[in-house]
Amino acid sequence: MAMIACQTELLCFRCGTVTTHTIMYASMYIKCTVCNRCSFAIEKPATTLMKQYVHDLPKRAFALSLRLKGEALSHPILFASSLPKRMIYKPIELTRELAEVCL
Ligand SMILES: [Zn+2]
Repeated sequence: MAMIACQTELLCFRCGTVTTHTIMYASMYIKCTVCNRCSFAIEKPATTLMKQYVHDLPKRAFALSLRLKGEALSHPILFASSLPKRMIYKPIELTRELAEVCL
């Protein structure tokens, strides 16, 4: 998952009014918000993002195992054929997420 940025209206602490902000996500976590008017930025420390990531990882692994079990039971041939690809790409995906959260 690449770094994602989106725009939304938020109250800027510096401007004191509602302005358009750019929100940048690392994986599924908000990493930084920047006021588009005055460039005031609030960035979440990498240590905080790491704590959130590590906290959420077991829940995500459990949810993934349930999803895989459901797929294996409902579509066993499709599941079996997709497994080698998943076994290669899932660690790559997790490594990318970790890099986004840490950097
Ligand atoms: Zn501002």
